[in-house]
Amino acid sequence: MSFRDTAYAVIREKTAHADWIREPVIGFADAASPVIRRLKTSVAEDHLMPEDVLPEATIIISYFLPFTKAAGMSNHDGDFPSQQWADFYNTTNALIAEINEALVDTLQAEGIPAAIPAGGFDTDRLLSRWSQRHIAEAAGLGTFGLNNMLITKAGSMGRFGSVVTALDEPADSPLTEELCTAKAGGKCTVCVKRCPTGALRTDGFDRNICYTICRKAEEELGADVCGKCAVSIPCAVKE
Ligand code: SF4
Ligand code: SF4
Repeated sequence: MSFRDTAYAVIREKTAHADWIREPVIGFADAASPVIRRLKTSVAEDHLMPEDVLPEATIIISYFLPFTKAAGMSNHDGDFPSQQWADFYNTTNALIAEINEALVDTLQAEGIPAAIPAGGFDTDRLLSRWSQRHIAEAAGLGTFGLNNMLITKAGSMGRFGSVVTALDEPADSPLTEELCTAKAGGKCTVCVKRCPTGALRTDGFDRNICYTICRKAEEELGADVCGKCAVSIPCAVKE
């Protein structure tokens, strides 16, 4: 049996009680994929490489925990994120930590080296040294939307996680189909219209403006979130 099925079962079991999470999506990224090798230029010059996390890295297991429409509705109204949205963020992050540990334990029990990346988010430069969305892109989970979210076949509203492994299994390829209507040449700008701060525009994104509201949410709600451009948009939830 492919470890893909085992990994899916681990993730499903860990999220079974989380009623704001739909069916997870999983992909395998080749550690040598061009998308991965470009991360030092596409994200941050000190972005970790898979071999920094695990010297014998071959495959990165990437997964997406898609949120329900109801979870998104909790953050629909107003110009400031809701407490429930912040709680979903924190609780899902805790679940991701549990899933990662369970995946590593399961792999290691089979004699397969595995490790959890700890890139973290640099709050000075507003960059991640382990971009879950770019790893997911390399694993064929989706393509980037105008709002900088990765749009998967289950939608774009949710959270990503990953584990670096020495699995000897075939990798998935990045998607070639464009999943953002605007990037595919269509007329959608719903995510831009939902941004309350002007950080997101059709011609760019100002991460400093965006992080200002996230910092305020951290002080008031306990999570550095906003997510107004991620909810109530056409690509948020796909069945
Ligand atoms: S709301 Fe429309 S423009 Fe924005 S990311 Fe989704 S599909 Fe693209
Ligand atoms: S997270 Fe909030 S401030 Fe940042 S781009 Fe999206 S809607 Fe705008």
